[in-house]
Amino acid sequence: MLEIKNLHAKVDGREILKGLDLTVPAGEVHAIMGPNGSGKSTLSYVLAGKEDYEVTEGSVTWNGKDLLEMEPDERAAAGVFLAFQYPMEIPGVATMTFLRSAVNAVRKARGEEEFSTPDFLRTVKEKAKGLQIDIEMLRRPLNVGFSGGEKKRNEILQMSLLEPELCILDETDSGLDIDALRIVSEGVNALRSPERSMLVITHYQRLLNYIVPDKVHVLSKGRVARSGGPELALELEKSGYAEYGQDEASAA
Ligand code: ADP
Ligand code: MG
Ligand code: MG
Repeated sequence: MLEIKNLHAKVDGREILKGLDLTVPAGEVHAIMGPNGSGKSTLSYVLAGKEDYEVTEGSVTWNGKDLLEMEPDERAAAGVFLAFQYPMEIPGVATMTFLRSAVNAVRKARGEEEFSTPDFLRTVKEKAKGLQIDIEMLRRPLNVGFSGGEKKRNEILQMSLLEPELCILDETDSGLDIDALRIVSEGVNALRSPERSMLVITHYQRLLNYIVPDKVHVLSKGRVARSGGPELALELEKSGYAEYGQDEASAA
């Protein structure tokens, strides 16, 4: 269970989150929607512990523990995973090598045995197949020259290898065509379980046809302005975000 209370956070001296409250019980999938610039990515970065994001007020507890006290690697070990809106490129590191060290670091931190080479290869091949990722792609440097869709599928591959308990997906649908959207959504839905909480951040309702959330929250100016069921997403699709402040034209 994730509990966020009165969260205020700054980046570059500017307050972006301004008293955000949100509770995600175990086993639930909550969608975070909202106009561009409302603070969706900032929330995901704060939860993942990205440097330069300074929490000035409020609390975040994850399974009763103070998440904000933990270093990013401790958060990963505690089961927190963020699929980035803009996955980073690492020219010198093969994707496969990156995935293997990420998964083994988390397994080790959890007190589990690290994957042997054959076990890792078997597991990664099986999961890559489900996401229609060509194994040849995994031999290339991490995200370098990957298409938008390949980057997003690779994020979900990493997520399914790590088996996190709190999955944060930041605009995983952006840049995906309809087939890739379906493949990625199936990958995410396969991970839904009574122990796992998910925050699915998206600007568009479309993704939520595939990943049906338990709750929908609308972020506006760094706070949750409204919460509801899946029908709220459909309503926003019709009405747009005009009543929530910024519009596309002032996109961040
Ligand atoms: P969203 O993901 O909802 O589009 P973001 O969390 O990316 O919104 O951004 C929220 C606001 O914070 C925007 O106005 C953006 O310009 C601002 N912002 C984000 N990162 C920085 C930064 N490094 N320095 C200053 N302002 C930032
Ligand atoms: Mg944005
Ligand atoms: Mg964003």
